[in-house]
Amino acid sequence: MCFVDSSTADSVDMSGTAMSGYECNACGNKFKGMGSKLSCPTCQSTDLKKTD
Ligand SMILES: [Zn+2]
Repeated sequence: MCFVDSSTADSVDMSGTAMSGYECNACGNKFKGMGSKLSCPTCQSTDLKKTD
């Protein structure tokens, strides 16, 4: 059996790594993160908004 198939590779590309974009309301830094308890990597603020 051979499963070297490009369509299969595409479907598993983002598996388990669903990153979302965020912008910090305190310093304006934009970054990507995942999970529900995020803080800004620059100023550590938790006042964030999603920018997806
Ligand atoms: Zn910040």
